[in-house]
Amino acid sequence: MLATETMNPVIIIGAGLAGYTVAREFRKLDKLTPLVIVTKDSGGFYSKPMLSNAFAQRKTPQQLVTQTAEQMSGQIAGAVLSGTTVLRIDPENRRVHTDKGVLAYRDLIIAAGAEPVRLPIPGNAAAAVLSVNHVDDYAIFHARVGLPEHAPATRVAILGAGLIGCEFADDISSAGHAVTLIDPNSMPLASIAPPVLSRGLQQALIDKGVAMRLGTTAASIDHGNNATHITLSDGSVVEADLVLSAVGLRPNCTLASTAGLTIDRGIVVNALGLSSDAHIYALGDCAQYTVGEAGATHTMPYIAPLMSAARAIARTLAGTPTPVDLKPTPVLVKTPSFPIALVPPPPDALAGGAWVDAVVDQRMISRFYDATGVMVGFGVAPQDAAIRNTLMTSLGRRWFHVNRTCSVGAEPLVQAQAAEVL
Ligand SMILES: Cc1cc2nc3c(=O)[nH]c(=O)nc-3n(C[C@H](O)[C@H](O)[C@H](O)COP(=O)(O)OP(=O)(O)OC[C@H]3O[C@@H](n4cnc5c(N)ncnc54)[C@H](O)[C@@H]3O)c2cc1C
Repeated sequence: MLATETMNPVIIIGAGLAGYTVAREFRKLDKLTPLVIVTKDSGGFYSKPMLSNAFAQRKTPQQLVTQTAEQMSGQIAGAVLSGTTVLRIDPENRRVHTDKGVLAYRDLIIAAGAEPVRLPIPGNAAAAVLSVNHVDDYAIFHARVGLPEHAPATRVAILGAGLIGCEFADDISSAGHAVTLIDPNSMPLASIAPPVLSRGLQQALIDKGVAMRLGTTAASIDHGNNATHITLSDGSVVEADLVLSAVGLRPNCTLASTAGLTIDRGIVVNALGLSSDAHIYALGDCAQYTVGEAGATHTMPYIAPLMSAARAIARTLAGTPTPVDLKPTPVLVKTPSFPIALVPPPPDALAGGAWVDAVVDQRMISRFYDATGVMVGFGVAPQDAAIRNTLMTSLGRRWFHVNRTCSVGAEPLVQAQAAEVL
């Protein structure tokens, strides 16, 4: 047993932004309770969003890690057990079983992140496809791609034109590499952005030299003649030096599931961030948060929700039960060629709703109105803080009246928009 029985620690599984943020917030409020972070990685602190814009800034993986596990241990006044994998949680006896021993906890916080989705693509090079969801993955990717001043341009095929795929495409093409973006949808960012902004981003990436292979998928990936050949479902072949998969992440729920906690897409937590066990909390990419009074739950794999969850869970653990404040926050697409800010409409608002576009001061703005005429989402490019804030204040407001003969069609919405002042 590694911990004392007298005052068992708060244990956090994971040393990503979620784990370290909740540790810092807890330590601000409680200086006495022992705090232990258990992580299978090296425990170095880095900002994950930097991974998809580090090439253009000429950052090496070593430069991205700003603090070591030892420095973080001092900062949180607690232990960081790096290189230690949690194998099993025993909620009944409040123990975590690691590959280095068993730890008792007072309360446990799961911040175990998410794992990249691996598509089951056939071919002798399918296993060599890379994903980047950690600075260690980035180190491998960076070593293979290289900076153009140190190596010849690399041909990189990216599977998936979502947020991460588009950011990497923009970033590594800025560094002089030849990028092909492959996606089954007809436009990039198809699942979260208004079509007008997807088309704008597509054009900006094409202007930058990114080749787009849209409306098709990788059917097989094989190596031969010193190149990787990606055969697409339309029969054509893309030749590349390496393939990066950016087709999505799956919340890491294995530990929670085997411990008998309620899971859905992620670990389901209530308004306080508490799982179905009274001493186990979850936040970050592994969590499925309860949003709003109706009790709907959503995964939210972004920084803003994990920051709110960290503050609330820390307060709750320090003795003041505090609900997680999950206000809509814009997602910033880090594509400098066409910088977009988005608040995607909630899935339950899509039926009967519509995007309405406008061009204001050379900006493309698209607002999403639900079936009752309430603005519940938007996208804007190019974006900056002022326009984001203006659009945020419009969220939740009704811009027109719905009557029996008028559903959310172009006509009433366009009129409504004309009345809106930016
Ligand atoms: C390339 C990229 C760019 C992004 N850009 C943005 C952006 O611009 N804006 C934004 O809001 N969001 C962005 N995101 C998303 C955001 O970075 C994530 O939501 C956030 O970093 C997730 O943090 P986390 O701590 O939940 O997970 P992680 O950072 O994945 O941390 C999980 C931790 O759990 C540990 N762990 C897992 N299993 C175990 C185990 N069994 N035992 C011990 N330790 C374990 C891991 O070692 C790791 O330390 C981006 C994501 C990526 C991949």
